[in-house]
Amino acid sequence: MEFPPALIELIHIPQNVAILSHRNPDGDAIGSSLAMRHYLEQYGHTVHVLFPSEYPEEFEVLSGAEDILVWDIHTEECKQVLSRKNLFFLLDFNSYSRIDRMGDYMKDLPGKRVMIDHHLYPDQIADYVFSEPEASSTCEMIYRFIQGIGDGMRINPTVGTCIFTGLVTDTGSFRHATNGTVYRIAADLVDRGVDDTGVQDMIFNSQKEKHLRLLGHCLTHRMEYLPEYRTALIWLSKKDYEIFNIQRGDTEGIVNYLLSIRDVRLAAFIHNQPTVVKLSLRSKGNIDVQEICKKHFNGGGHKNASGAYSHDSLKATIEKFKDLLPEYKAVLTAK
Ligand code: 5GP
Ligand code: MN
Repeated sequence: MEFPPALIELIHIPQNVAILSHRNPDGDAIGSSLAMRHYLEQYGHTVHVLFPSEYPEEFEVLSGAEDILVWDIHTEECKQVLSRKNLFFLLDFNSYSRIDRMGDYMKDLPGKRVMIDHHLYPDQIADYVFSEPEASSTCEMIYRFIQGIGDGMRINPTVGTCIFTGLVTDTGSFRHATNGTVYRIAADLVDRGVDDTGVQDMIFNSQKEKHLRLLGHCLTHRMEYLPEYRTALIWLSKKDYEIFNIQRGDTEGIVNYLLSIRDVRLAAFIHNQPTVVKLSLRSKGNIDVQEICKKHFNGGGHKNASGAYSHDSLKATIEKFKDLLPEYKAVLTAK
């Protein structure tokens, strides 16, 4: 990372700052946003964190989560807050399409923009772009950003806990996208007083009974295994949403269970959310789900974890997904 003097100056002098992250914010979106907030506040900036949609309940214990503004709920307040800002941080996303109507509103606002992100193919929407698709998480990049500016001593337990959250969620608890740097950062955060077990408990041991019932339903009644394509999928209908009273975040992580089947290389979770059909694809090794999502569903993400929305019916979307498998059969079944 390189830091132009003008950017360092912006950070050292109090500004009116907005930190934005993507729709359906995950642990990395929330962790990076709150870490950046707690870092910037040490310089006296006025900071608001804004998301297009709500975040999963388990993250509400993170310091600062209570005053996050959500466009879907506080639209007018979000507009007013955004229109007063002169510095924007775009974290864990790289295209205005990922923040929907908030992106449309943002496009015409003045103010400097700093993007810190690890998704592929960033749009040129920021004055300062830190884009590292090989990074494990945006939180890892936030750690290196703060260190790179020479402010490592400002990574206190509050900042560190937020960073640790994104490291854990985006690496599936240190199971993928790891390397020596990731472990060194994790170790340093623990040395600085981050309660690593506490973060793991917040993320993985905070489920409600209904989450396990829903998981059981998915695995027993909604899972299809297609061994000839080394692919498995789970789907959920609108009716399932009603019966299980599915709320934001309740389906997080379900797709990963499919990858635990030894021979599965491609996993899909296709669910009929109240207004749109959402696809989450995950893969092992060389299977590029980013390409599949982009080419067939106008979505994106990372090589091994991508998502997209479909405006077709649930049934048509499932069919479309199954119909594209022959195109990838060679790579899916390669030794
Ligand atoms: P998930 O399947 O958990 O929603 O998302 C997996 C990854 O793909 C995340 O990094 C997320 O940011 C990205 N992603 C999810 N949906 C979309 C989408 O519609 N478009 C793009 N470009 N990326 C997405
Ligand atoms: Mn991320």
